[in-house]
Amino acid sequence: MMRLSFNADLITGTLIHYYVTCKREAWLYSRKISANQWDENILMGKALAEIKEEQLQQFPFLNLKFDKIGKQRGHYLVTEYKKTLKNPEGAKMQLLFYMWQLKTSLSLKAINGKVISGKRVVFVEGNEENMKRVEELMEELSYFLETPKPPPVKKIAFCGQCGYRDYCF
Ligand code: SF4
Repeated sequence: MMRLSFNADLITGTLIHYYVTCKREAWLYSRKISANQWDENILMGKALAEIKEEQLQQFPFLNLKFDKIGKQRGHYLVTEYKKTLKNPEGAKMQLLFYMWQLKTSLSLKAINGKVISGKRVVFVEGNEENMKRVEELMEELSYFLETPKPPPVKKIAFCGQCGYRDYCF
């Protein structure tokens, strides 16, 4: 693994997910600008989080909160449940970030993950290549967070479901 030249503590899984989805969304979130709390997607997300807290075994570690960690054939397996998979790449990188945190902090030999949304399951391999990808993404994101202004609005497929759209359109 590479030697980090930035403060990884500033980065969260949600920020990674937003950055992969829309850099402007990530910037607004990083400045603690609240998304529209009455947005249908945010309300559904909150409802799901409440159900998760009641029904699932959450595993708080550092400032991470993913849903489940277990062992499968000698490998650690992290599971994250999502209400929707509107951006599978964002969900994958978010989970890889959690896996990277666990692997580096606990010096684990091997860790894999899966994202579950309804009947869809996305397996995320914790191999060297993926760990390097997430490290590079974290480094890029840490430089991005220093930019004083958000990137300009660029309409993308996710805008219709984004809680920040009042700040863009
Ligand atoms: S509305 Fe679109 S451009 Fe604006 S933050 Fe959301 S996804 Fe990004």
